[in-house]
Amino acid sequence: MLALPAVDRAAQELQEHALALGFDVAGWAGAEVPRQVWQEYGAWLAAGRHAGMDYLETGAWRRADLSSSLLASQGAGQVLALGISHAFAAPEKPAGGVRLGRVARYAWTPDYHAQIEPLLAALSDHARRLGIRARGYVDYGPILERDLAGRAFLGWRGKSGMLINTELGAFVTLAVLITDLPSSPAAEPGLLYPEALHPDRCGRCSRCVQACPTQAIGDDRAIDARRCISYLTIEHRGPVDWALRPALGDWLLGCDICSAVCPWTQKAGAVASRLQPDPELAWPDMLGFFGLSERDFLRRYQHAAHARPRRKGMARNALTVVGNLAGRLEGAEQIRPLLALGCQDPAWEVREAVAYALGRWQDWAGLEALLGDSDERVRKAAQRGIQGGL
Ligand code: SF4
Ligand code: SF4
Repeated sequence: MLALPAVDRAAQELQEHALALGFDVAGWAGAEVPRQVWQEYGAWLAAGRHAGMDYLETGAWRRADLSSSLLASQGAGQVLALGISHAFAAPEKPAGGVRLGRVARYAWTPDYHAQIEPLLAALSDHARRLGIRARGYVDYGPILERDLAGRAFLGWRGKSGMLINTELGAFVTLAVLITDLPSSPAAEPGLLYPEALHPDRCGRCSRCVQACPTQAIGDDRAIDARRCISYLTIEHRGPVDWALRPALGDWLLGCDICSAVCPWTQKAGAVASRLQPDPELAWPDMLGFFGLSERDFLRRYQHAAHARPRRKGMARNALTVVGNLAGRLEGAEQIRPLLALGCQDPAWEVREAVAYALGRWQDWAGLEALLGDSDERVRKAAQRGIQGGL
């Protein structure tokens, strides 16, 4: 067997070091994004399917070509795509509080950025010792991680739009290490071989598309954020379209449905070993979103994805969940305090959301009281609640 060139040996060592540090999968891909991927991304943006995430548009030109932006002076050649599982077993609900809403798995662990960054820093240090310039990113910055991971042979883009790995399923947090290594087309797929695309293993399955409660997944394996519960509960500011609210179900933060129903996820099981879930993040007390200043809320959740929608976003989400649980809870005792706090909330978006919840619970007295609210948007919502959400 021919000896690998020195550059390949260094790349292989870095890949092995990534796995030793705790990443579940690692593979190499070229830094330059293929034209087709870039065109698809541009079309997705042009169609407005990124909803209010304007920052995706602003940084779009940089996403096109990592080689020209991230290791500016020297140029990036190869990227080590990395994945770490967040397929946790569900932790038990903590005692006390009102814990009725579901949180997407990735948010069960205290800030995964903070947990993955030290691994990337250790990997960058190791790269430096091997004479490689490197820079790590995890879920921020101008990176098309799923494209890179697909070209690095870590998996394929499923019909859900998520990266699917045969061993880990869909619950994978992606990160990348951008390096100045040159490419080497002689090596194996996933190891300095930028053209290797993982085969599509979706076959005739379309469980994710059928299970999505808001029909957010397109035929082109791309998600329309304007309809996706993840976007609506995390990134969207202000009231959610009333027509979509019932489909949000009991999702308080994010949505796991399309990933959870995937047969590859189910086959993998609870494989997360490096990251650990925190029951207080998996089952937050919804009362804790009320009666706090935005600043105190951010201090409380500073290491969690829960901080992203901010306090008023989480309070809004909690009230949507409360509304959607009408007819599904034994009694209203648990949710009464939430409705009362919602009616008194300083943020109009939260009082707007309580009108939806009151309408679903047919609390006409509560809605009558909201008709006297100081904000016209809340009064309109109360009227709508009285009319059955029309
Ligand atoms: S995360 Fe939920 S709402 Fe979004 S596409 Fe998947 S199933 Fe649909
Ligand atoms: S649920 Fe089925 S169609 Fe969807 S990503 Fe998984 S394998 Fe593919």
